[in-house]
Amino acid sequence: MHPHEPHHPHSAGSPPEHQSQQPDRTPSLDKDTAPPSPWAQPDPRTGGFPAQDSPPQPPTGPYPPLAPGGYAPGYYPPSGPPAPPQHRPRGLMPWDRPARHPWEIPLLIVVIMFTAVAYLLALLLLTVELFADPVVDEKGVEQTGSIVTSPYVLLLLFAPVLLWAGRGLNLATQRVNGVKMSPTQFPEGYRMVQEAAARFGMHKAPDAYVILGNGKINAFASGHGFRRFVVVYSDLFEIGGAAREPDGLAFIIGHEVGHIAAGHVSYWRQLGMFVAPWLPLLGSSLIRAQEYTADNHGFCFRPHGASTAMATLAAGKYLNSDVGVDEMADRAALDRGGFVWLVNAMGSHPVLTWRMWALRDRSKPGPMFWRPSAPHPGLIPPRGGYPLNSTPPALPPKPV
Ligand SMILES: [Zn+2]
Repeated sequence: MHPHEPHHPHSAGSPPEHQSQQPDRTPSLDKDTAPPSPWAQPDPRTGGFPAQDSPPQPPTGPYPPLAPGGYAPGYYPPSGPPAPPQHRPRGLMPWDRPARHPWEIPLLIVVIMFTAVAYLLALLLLTVELFADPVVDEKGVEQTGSIVTSPYVLLLLFAPVLLWAGRGLNLATQRVNGVKMSPTQFPEGYRMVQEAAARFGMHKAPDAYVILGNGKINAFASGHGFRRFVVVYSDLFEIGGAAREPDGLAFIIGHEVGHIAAGHVSYWRQLGMFVAPWLPLLGSSLIRAQEYTADNHGFCFRPHGASTAMATLAAGKYLNSDVGVDEMADRAALDRGGFVWLVNAMGSHPVLTWRMWALRDRSKPGPMFWRPSAPHPGLIPPRGGYPLNSTPPALPPKPV
């Protein structure tokens, strides 16, 4: 409910086998010369990534009790899995700590400074109002409707209470209406949340709820007091449910748990960012940097879920498998113009093509203000065209 609370869609589409098969579907003419798809991930058995147990299977017997640290037995320790032997630059790759976007902290400092000035200004106006002589008009009547009653000043003066109450109401809404993920309800999602928290070195896994999405693809993270929680819309969960694709859902859960791990939902941080919605470009840029940070977490947790998550954001849960994520990501470098720049600069999330690009090119942080350029001349579009994406969805749409 609070504007700074990270929330957004993410989701899943084509199966991981589909991605690893992509180079094979390149027309045979170019099979030996075409560059491999950047979406193709290293083989889990040979590429240095620990094996992903995908799709995770819910346990058959009763669930064992959680370990003292809040983790289910068998999950990674809070320190996370061991780092791979090879060096990964910038921490963007799996099994290093997920990287914070380099713009995040500098922008946060500037926004906090603006917010502090706004709070001080509101206090100053209140003081002036309390101690200044009352304004009297020519008829001797005391004027009301002073500047202190301006809604903006009131909003700032009561910001600590309003934010606290808003977060409390948000959590309470999930507690009374949401389906709480547990070993017996949405066990796959529950397990992903536990694993993501362990992967990011969190001392306690957040609560997680599924709420009715009514067709919307969305998820968000928030907190109240010492509690942290993730909310996943049911439509999004359906995509990553047991019958469909767990990897896209895992990426999204990694993204949302990442918001918590990176401190984005802290009360004090949100209080310090209170005026961000009223700071044109600056406020939205900070939120965009946070989204890239969260995407880095999602990627580190489940790299091969990134493309299906992005495809679902682009085309929804039924048509995601028709999205050529490479083809769409390439447009990040091709689409130019002032309005393209503005749409991204004003957005709370990076535009989708740039976001896809950033998840594909892990050599540098996501582009914040300027469209990315192709790493190699002639790479876009690939020789021989894009491979046909003819893999049918894993399941037909469910009858109503
Ligand atoms: Zn987010």
